Amino acid sequence: ATQPINVKLLLIGNSSVGKSSLLLRFSDEQWVPEDEASATIGVDFRVHKMDVDGKKVKLSIWDTAGQERFRTITSSYYRGAHGVILVYDVANRESFDALPRWYGELETYVNPKVVKMVVGNKVDKEYSRQVTYSEGQHFATRMGSLFFEASAKTAVGVADAFKEVVRRIVAEPELVGGE
Ligand code: GDP
Repeated sequence: ATQPINVKLLLIGNSSVGKSSLLLRFSDEQWVPEDEASATIGVDFRVHKMDVDGKKVKLSIWDTAGQERFRTITSSYYRGAHGVILVYDVANRESFDALPRWYGELETYVNPKVVKMVVGNKVDKEYSRQVTYSEGQHFATRMGSLFFEASAKTAVGVADAFKEVVRRIVAEPELVGGE
């Protein structure tokens, strides 16, 4: 039997953009109501087994567990990452404007080959949107990143985004160590 490919994926971005909620939505297919969301602080990572293009993948998804509130994320968080999802909130301009700073931090810690994806979360808040789809997409393209919009609340786009980033990682043999 072949060993599964180990993939480490990170979630970064400003506090409250929905990183923990996206992780929970993807791993449990469940939505955590607002008043319970604080209980997710302390989640470090979750392991998920999946099949991608016929390959077995053991995916560990790391959540900052609130470290970003202190503006510093330890280098051990970034170590060995194969992919990074940069999350912003489409109803919060500031969280989008913070992305260049997150890219700057990434560059100091991760292999330039890591697969990057920008995710605009909370698309269910269409009525208070502050960042258009095309702004998000143009920015991601400029940064050499994939782009998805999603909602951890309604689940729209969540599984597609995670699956696509893993598919791209697995397609890069020098990133995951080949077969
Ligand atoms: P984190 O700090 O980035 O991990 O963000 P959390 O996952 O803790 O979410 C912050 C707040 O946003 C919580 O109140 C969540 O319930 C809420 N939230 C997260 N994702 C969504 C979403 O897709 N839509 C809406 N409307 N609220 C969300």
